[in-house]
This record gives sequence, C-alpha cells and structure tokens, in this order.
Amino acid sequence: MIHERSVIETHHAACKAAFMRHTSIVATSLLAVGLNLTATSCALPMPDSQAEDGRSTSRWVTSGSDVEMKALEYQRNGQNGKLVEFLDESLSRHVAGARKSGERARLELMRAHALERLGRRLSALNAFGRAWQEVSPNANGVGSEILQQWARLEMNMGDYKSAMDHYARALRARDLGRNRERDIRCSLIVACEAAGKLSQASDQIARLDHKGRAQMSSTRTLLLRDQTKRKRPATPGVVDAFLPAGVIPMNPSLILAGIRPREDWGARNIQPDHVPMRPITSITVHHTAMPAPGQFNTIAQLKQIQNIHTGDNGWADVGYHFIVDPSGQAWEGRRLMHQGAHAGGSANIGNVGVCLMGNFETGRVPSAQAAGLTNLLDALRAQFEVDRSEVRTHREWKATTCPGQHLQSVVARYRTAPRSTLALQ
Ligand SMILES: [Zn+2]
Repeated sequence: MIHERSVIETHHAACKAAFMRHTSIVATSLLAVGLNLTATSCALPMPDSQAEDGRSTSRWVTSGSDVEMKALEYQRNGQNGKLVEFLDESLSRHVAGARKSGERARLELMRAHALERLGRRLSALNAFGRAWQEVSPNANGVGSEILQQWARLEMNMGDYKSAMDHYARALRARDLGRNRERDIRCSLIVACEAAGKLSQASDQIARLDHKGRAQMSSTRTLLLRDQTKRKRPATPGVVDAFLPAGVIPMNPSLILAGIRPREDWGARNIQPDHVPMRPITSITVHHTAMPAPGQFNTIAQLKQIQNIHTGDNGWADVGYHFIVDPSGQAWEGRRLMHQGAHAGGSANIGNVGVCLMGNFETGRVPSAQAAGLTNLLDALRAQFEVDRSEVRTHREWKATTCPGQHLQSVVARYRTAPRSTLALQ
C-alpha cells in the first residue's frame, strides 16, 4: 500500500547551497595542499565533464623547469594527445632530482588527467598510480591530492573498493585543514556506501561535522553523476568482473540482468534528506492496490507512484526499491543504496521493498508477474545472502491488507519452496 508514512523524509534548501559551496571548496583545497596550483579554475577534479576544449584545467605555477612549462602550454591549449606524447618522452629521461621537488609527481598527475580527457581511463588509472609512487614521503598534501583524484576516477569506473582505500589513505595525511578533510571524508562515505560497506560508512558519518552532513548529498551527486548517465559502465572489465556478496551496485542489472533502471521511466532525483541503506537483512513484498496498468502505461503508473510518495506522503523518493509490472518486468524504484520507505519506521532498516503492480486482494497474480517476482527475489537473496525465511509481506510487519490475499499466498509458497518453482498461479 502506498499511503502510509513510514519514514520522515524532508529536504531543505541548505542542500543547494552546499552544492554550490562544494565547487569552491574543491578549488580552494587545491591551494591548501601545496600543489602550487592556481585556483582560477576548479575543473581539475572533474576533467571529463568540464574540459571538452581542454582549457578549463588547472594551471600550474611552477618553479619553471622547461619540461613543466612546455607541458603547461600543451595543457592550456587543450592538446591532450601531444601532452601525453611529450610527457611519455620527458618522464622516461627525466632525472631523479626532479622527484625531490615533486616535479615528477606533478607531471605524472598532469599526464593522468590528459589521458582521462582522451578517454583512456585504464591508462589514466595507471598514471595516477605512478604519480602516487613519485610523491616523496613528506609531501603529504600532494599525495592526498593525487589519491583523491585517483579515487574519483575509480568511483567513476565503479571500482568502489579501491576508491575507498585511496580516500581512506588520503584522509590520513597530516595538516589537511578542516575543509579538505571534510571533503575527503564525504567522498569516502559515498565510496563506502557504493561498495556496500555500510557500517564503515556509518562510522565515518558519525565523524562528520554539521557542515559535512550538509555536504553529503552534493558529494553523492558529484561522484555518482557520470554513472547514472551511462546505461552501461564504460569499462565492463573493471565493473562487471566481480560483484562480491553484499555489495550494492549502482547498476541494478548487475543484480539481475534485465532490470530496467529508473532512468528508463524518467524518475525524478531523490530528495536530499534520505538515509543510506544499512546491511540488507530482509525483503518485503507489497502490492500497489491500484488497477494493474496495461502494457503501455506502466511508465505512467511508475511516475504516478513517485508523485504520490514524494508529494502526498512527503518522502524523499518512491518508497519501494523495485516494482514488478504485470508482464513480470522488474523496474528500479528507489536506488538500493538508499533506505526505502515501505514497511513502516524502523522496519525499513536493511529491508528491500518490492512492489507488484495490481490489487491482489481482489485479483490473482498473473503467472508472468509471479515468475518475475521469483527471479527478483532469488537474485536479491543470492546477492545479499538473505534467507528465504526473511522474505516477508507488508502485513507481516503491521496491520494492513497489503499485499492482498492472493500475493500473500504466493510469497508464503515462495518461502517454503525448495527452489524457484513459482511460475504458477
Ligand atoms: Zn505495502
């Protein structure tokens, strides 16, 4: 049922301000770390999105070795290919003395950004790694900057665990300054959430100050933005190779192939004040109690549900994580990394909300829809190691007729079935 208020979710205007602030924090933090960058542009952390012409990248103020000055010129002119070529050549013959001054680290970092802008992401990852190796042990600030940039690309490529590691290491640098520490900690939390390391995320959230909490949603938007735009990751080998149990992927089709992402039905973004998902321990099945849509208005009904949940109910987003239409097609609702609003209060914690379109108090569950539910439940249970007995229905949490008598018996049968044999009435 869609009408009860189970989580108080409000949003406040402070978020927008936090988002605006974030960009300037990034720019000033570059100054603070002793990288000798000018802060005339904040484009360095997001080279992909802002540097189509290659001009918006940072400019280096250096002691002025010829190599560095030449590299800067290429960078300013947006000649990324030439810059990479030039740096490949120069770095291979550059002497060890340049390491002490941090020049090699800066050149490697410049090379990494150029590679990234050329779309050579794997090479860029390697270049960030080399830049990190070139950092002299006492150059804390430079090192943490490199780690942060490295981790940002890893987030972008879906390698959340490496990103976590690198953000955590960046946070260990001394003398970061409060703004920069906050910035990195927010990024670390997003990485932990994306990797499904939710207790680590909570630990870090507890260490955030008030400003940091206000900054969280803008950091999420920044770090996960490019992924939500893409249907499939740009480098399948990196993202798809291995999805350890418990990890919540950004792309729901990594849990079950064929799930339609929320972009496909034109979902509006989640409102700022929502709660991250805690470790997943149960799944709860609902029905919409609305007339089941025909083939052509499923998307309209998904939008309608989101409107009711965010409008009348005042929630941050559609309450359910997945919605199964009458044909058995599963659609992504609220992202699984965000706690749902469907079971009532604390029952939402670690609880995946799955809703079937239709009213099953009055009608039977179509076999295709029951089969779609079974596949989804199987996939969720496998990924999050949820026992069959932890698949429940709404009425088992509280007094409601949801999910209707007919769906209730389908779920009851699922719990006792030896394996997936539910494609029946
Ligand atoms: Zn319900």
